[in-house]
Amino acid sequence: MAKTKPGKKDLDSYSIKGTNKVVRVGDCVLMRPSDSDKPPYVAKVDRIEADHRNNVKVRVQWYYRPEESVGGRRQFHGAKELFLSDHYDFQSAHTIEGKCIVHSFKNYTKLENVGPEDYFCRFDYKAATGGFTPDRVAVYCKCEMPYNPDDLMVQCEGCKDWFHPICMGMTIEEAKKLDPFLCSDCSSEDDAKRPLNSFHVEPKDIYDGAKTRVKIREGDNLEHFPIVMGLHMDERKEQNGAVK
Ligand SMILES: [Zn+2]
Ligand SMILES: [Zn+2]
Repeated sequence: MAKTKPGKKDLDSYSIKGTNKVVRVGDCVLMRPSDSDKPPYVAKVDRIEADHRNNVKVRVQWYYRPEESVGGRRQFHGAKELFLSDHYDFQSAHTIEGKCIVHSFKNYTKLENVGPEDYFCRFDYKAATGGFTPDRVAVYCKCEMPYNPDDLMVQCEGCKDWFHPICMGMTIEEAKKLDPFLCSDCSSEDDAKRPLNSFHVEPKDIYDGAKTRVKIREGDNLEHFPIVMGLHMDERKEQNGAVK
């Protein structure tokens, strides 16, 4: 009798056992870690296939958490930050425990509420070398750190840079009461020294976490974090365009 060659068949979707959730190619999923104390792994489904016994496997592209990257978690990494890696694996579909959404950085900062299933990704990550794309980022505040969407920042009406209240020696409540907010450099300058046409007073923007827009300093003031982290160039351009 001729042997049946184990045939593999691509599937369009897979239903998570015990749920009514359907996973399709391109969806982001949470996968059960072997160590149940750890948070679930996050991956993007690249392919779904069934073998001749109907065992379903998924080819996934892993997202890395900052602590899983070579450089580790840094101060400017958000709690829900992930890096899209170039690391693919086949996994049994049974290890999928739920779906999630990995937002672009920009969309994440616009969310009204961040739910447990919301994550964001602003960097691609090369697992073999630990390299990031993009590898540069705009920095803010006296501390010259990239933007962490979990931290509240206030914008100075003078120089338009964004600041952490704590770096300006004040509490969040104190910073919110200052209207307009001026950073220490701008408040110590004499207003008359500043050319009138470059001093626009706009309604104060205060942002915290999800409710915010990111604003970036004008090109000539733009500084780069020299080592590994960066905003996407297209986002930077778009945001600069939005700053009047
Ligand atoms: Zn700061
Ligand atoms: Zn200022």
